Amino acid sequence: MGLKSRNQLERVISASLISQIWLVCSRMFPSRFPTTHKCRICGVDVETTEVRAHYRTTHPEFEGWGNHWKRLSWLLLISDMALAGLNLLIIRSVIPIFDYVVIACLSGSVLVLIFTMVSKQGAFREAWNRTHPSPNSSTT
Ligand SMILES: [Zn+2]
Repeated sequence: MGLKSRNQLERVISASLISQIWLVCSRMFPSRFPTTHKCRICGVDVETTEVRAHYRTTHPEFEGWGNHWKRLSWLLLISDMALAGLNLLIIRSVIPIFDYVVIACLSGSVLVLIFTMVSKQGAFREAWNRTHPSPNSSTT
């Protein structure tokens, strides 16, 4: 009965742990990270600290979709990690060729995630350009 909630707890803990590690890494090497970020939807340069606020206020639909995408990608990556761990512990000794399956799953899900992000960004950018025509091409 309590096993399901325990699994969920472990998933949440590992997700927050990885994001914490990422946070520490980005603080350790601040010079490697650019200070401005070109908005992927409207193309405006935004301070990296303001990026989240910009997406939230200017592109709320994209922000909402992004959160959904992040949740999905975590789920996908964590299940890939679980598969990789399981492979190292058990499957590898039974099916040696399973390494390739794990690698294919990992690279496949990363590719799918990148592809969905890029195509969704393109769709949002197109929609933005349609509703916000650039001032240069003003028509009378
Ligand atoms: Zn923007």
